[in-house]
Amino acid sequence: MNIKNCPKCKKLFSPTSGQIICPDCIKAEEEEFEKVRDYLRENRGADINVVSNETGVSTKKILRYLREGRLEVTDGMKDFLKCEKCGVSIKSGQYCRSCSEKVSKNLSSVLVNPNENNKETAKMHITRK
Ligand SMILES: [Zn+2]
Ligand SMILES: [Zn+2]
Repeated sequence: MNIKNCPKCKKLFSPTSGQIICPDCIKAEEEEFEKVRDYLRENRGADINVVSNETGVSTKKILRYLREGRLEVTDGMKDFLKCEKCGVSIKSGQYCRSCSEKVSKNLSSVLVNPNENNKETAKMHITRK
C-alpha cells in the first residue's frame, strides 16, 4: 500500500489518486473555503482584506480559490483578479474569456497533434523574452 507524509501536518496517510494532503487537512481546507464562501455570500461587497481578517484565511488562499474558479470576485474585490495573459479584470479563473478561448483552442490542437504543441511552446519562449 502506498503511504506518505502529509506535507502540511506530517502525518502518515495513504493517498488515493491525486491526493496530496491527508484527509484531515483536506477537511480543514474545505472548512476554510466554506468560511470564505459563506462570508462572501452574506457580505457581497466585502474587500479582500476584510474577508481575510474576518475569516482568518489568508488572501493568498482566497486568491487561489478565485484562480481555481471555486469563488467569484465580489464588487469589493474589483480589479483584484486579473487575466494572467492580458491583465484585464476577471471574476474567476486564470484568464479572461477571450484568452481562455485561445488557451482552450491551443489545448485542443495539442490533443490533435502533439508536435504542433512543441512548435507552439518554442514560439512562446521566443516571444516571451
Ligand atoms: Zn495533514
Ligand atoms: Zn485575457
